[in-house]
Amino acid sequence: MACIFCDIVAGRAEASVVHEDEQVLAFMDIRPMTPGHLLVIPKQHATDLAELDAALGGPLFATAQRLAAALRRSPLKPAGINLFLADGVAAGQEVFHVHLHVLPRTPGDGWGLRGTFQWPHRMTLDAQAGQIRNVLPE
Ligand code: 5GP
Ligand code: ZN
Repeated sequence: MACIFCDIVAGRAEASVVHEDEQVLAFMDIRPMTPGHLLVIPKQHATDLAELDAALGGPLFATAQRLAAALRRSPLKPAGINLFLADGVAAGQEVFHVHLHVLPRTPGDGWGLRGTFQWPHRMTLDAQAGQIRNVLPE
């Protein structure tokens, strides 16, 4: 199936690349939510986190960490950085090749996560922790 990020990896589609190594590619988001918005992807296609080779999680995060440091040193001088990953349609995923957003932030830039904090009982938190712990992959 056609994948725009695989096309970028293969050089069939253009991108403004910031970092490339054997496993990972990082480039400017074509529709930045803030100036300097970057995407980090595994070169090997994986639709979502479930498909992603666990060994690639580390290199993806390490690259995002280096990019965050570079952004802070760059003339873009963000006041903060958000790392964001949408896994699945319900989470807002639009491109089905895993990607980690590196989002430079400045006060009042209008970006944010919407939601309402809840205060569940400890019993609920303990029960949910157990449900998740029971099926934790190796
Ligand atoms: P998602 O909502 O899936 O987490 O984010 C997909 C991101 O990919 C969006 O921020 C969108 O702007 C970006 N994007 C979509 N198509 C392209 C493209 O062809 N090139 C680049 N550089 N970014 C893209
Ligand atoms: Zn792909």
